[in-house]
Amino acid sequence: MSSCCNTPPAEGGKKPEKRKPTDCPQCGQRAMPVEAITVLHHAEQPWALELEDQWWVCENPDCDQVYVNEHQQLSQAQLRDLPAGKQADEHALVCFCFGVTRAQATEPAVREFVVQMTRNNRCDCTIRNPAGRCCLKDFPKPSAV
Ligand SMILES: [Zn+2]
Repeated sequence: MSSCCNTPPAEGGKKPEKRKPTDCPQCGQRAMPVEAITVLHHAEQPWALELEDQWWVCENPDCDQVYVNEHQQLSQAQLRDLPAGKQADEHALVCFCFGVTRAQATEPAVREFVVQMTRNNRCDCTIRNPAGRCCLKDFPKPSAV
């Protein structure tokens, strides 16, 4: 099953298969495991890929590769959209489920909306977010109130 943000990491949270991060073959930085279905929904030509492979996502903004494994690498140019970490500008989407840009993500009401949606299981991060995980990590930290 998908491992979204609202899955409590607490007891009993056993996942059938827990893959470890790997080093991006391009930049050497840590790349996180990502599901094939994520790659499928963001690659420009998913039909050309070997989706049975396991995939990792490199979110290093200075690295041109995004989805990687030992046989294949997908560069930024080979994707339909990019993980938020790859794009610094404020018009870049950080929440792909609800279309929130980096600029909008600074608004407390917007953040609260997304928090509520994830709590209520209304998000679809594994498929929609190119990073394959909850977008709230990409939101600017709420300033201490
Ligand atoms: Zn990389």
